[in-house]
Amino acid sequence: MTAPRGLLLVVSSPSGAGKTTLCRRLIREHPELRFSISYTTRPPRPGEVPGADYHFVDEETFSHMAASGAFAEWAHVHGHRYGTAIATVRQALEAGGQVLFDVDYQGAERLKEQFPEAATLVFILPPSLSALQERLRRRGTEPAEVIQQRLRNAYQELCHHASYHYLIVNDDIDRAYGELEAVYLVARGDAPVHIAERARACSLAARGPLVQILLKEGERPHGTDPL
Ligand code: 5GP
Repeated sequence: MTAPRGLLLVVSSPSGAGKTTLCRRLIREHPELRFSISYTTRPPRPGEVPGADYHFVDEETFSHMAASGAFAEWAHVHGHRYGTAIATVRQALEAGGQVLFDVDYQGAERLKEQFPEAATLVFILPPSLSALQERLRRRGTEPAEVIQQRLRNAYQELCHHASYHYLIVNDDIDRAYGELEAVYLVARGDAPVHIAERARACSLAARGPLVQILLKEGERPHGTDPL
């Protein structure tokens, strides 16, 4: 019998698009799927658990890890540094395990480059940029200028959608979850036909045109849109 193939399920989205909720549910319902705990120089937010949400480290520790090759990828995101431990990736691939990575587009593109056979990339989209702005406001964890920065970043991230294999629009959390689960099962290689069809409907080819509409919204002159 051949060893099971390791799977890297790489999920990105602009902040506020519902990625964390969707990823947590996928891990809860599929306990074999492990979460890659990133390293970050960002300070913990209230309620975040060190060693579970992130490994929170200082600048010096991060620099040392980066210089010694401890990261499969690392990037500056929203003014802080975030990195994926190479050990997490190696262990998953060697053991044929499944790991979920919550990384930005830079991390996703680097993981795809390095592990093209194992990486499946999923981008979670908000239904519109104004919906995203509203969600960030309601969440209330960031000050107004940080929200503006995150909206500008969202537009930049959307410009990288073509790097992803699948695009999921989170306008309904249950439907978006069903699509994410379908993509996971297909990537794992044991999806029945109807699930495979559901995943195919989220492919870049099928969903790409939707992103063009979102990008147009981001191009409107200041004052008529959230950017
Ligand atoms: P937050 O600070 O809101 O938890 O995350 C900010 C952004 O950093 C998110 O887009 C998240 O996906 C990204 N991120 C988290 N961990 C990593 C990582 O290890 N590498 C990269 N490239 N991005 C990460």
